[in-house]
Amino acid sequence: MLFSPQQMLPPALYPLLHRSLKTLFPEALWELPPHPKQQVALTFDDGPHPQHTPALLRVLQEFQVPATFFVLGERVQRWPHLVRQIRQQGHEIGLHGWQHRSFTQLSRSELHSGLRRSQAALVAACGGIPEEYRAVRPPNGLFWPRTLTDLRSWGYLPVMWSVVPEDWLCPPVAVVVERVLNQVRPGSLIVLHDGVQGGSQVAEVVRRLIPALREEGFDFAGLPDPADLPSCGKD
Ligand SMILES: [Zn+2]
Repeated sequence: MLFSPQQMLPPALYPLLHRSLKTLFPEALWELPPHPKQQVALTFDDGPHPQHTPALLRVLQEFQVPATFFVLGERVQRWPHLVRQIRQQGHEIGLHGWQHRSFTQLSRSELHSGLRRSQAALVAACGGIPEEYRAVRPPNGLFWPRTLTDLRSWGYLPVMWSVVPEDWLCPPVAVVVERVLNQVRPGSLIVLHDGVQGGSQVAEVVRRLIPALREEGFDFAGLPDPADLPSCGKD
């Protein structure tokens, strides 16, 4: 077991940890590739949620900012109209497992079948093909080195993080925004939550965060196409 954000590290430690893990596990995506604009990616885990996700989508639409949602298959099956709405607004969708269980607690076949089932739920909700949903973020940041190899060999792209403001603990909105601004740099993958934990204030966080990041010269992007990533292409 490598790392769990739920161990509540001091937020200032995340950038250090990010640098070490990025070097140790280059088969995962830890940040956006270099770009002339100072791009960052807003990512949201644990949804969809019947109240928090629509509130968040309204803010993203207002600011015309793209984002990536790492959804739980069970919640996709329960609220398919929410993921349709996410897609209709042009955001990307990745996988976060069928339920919110650490991948280290699942057998390889449980993990694989949970991801395939989640893809099927997304296809049922949004149409398209399962391969459109290839980005996978492990719940709680936990994985075995073998997990990354498996994900890659099954055709998935493991996507990690670089900015973690611990919003799931619901600190004041201003604190979440300040933590992001302290950690952010060009290419950052910013992790926020629109699920049960942290989701109640995510719309307000984003409403304050987007103008603050723009003020500092950052632009917003989705995830890169795995085919464009030399170290993250197909095996
Ligand atoms: Zn999660």
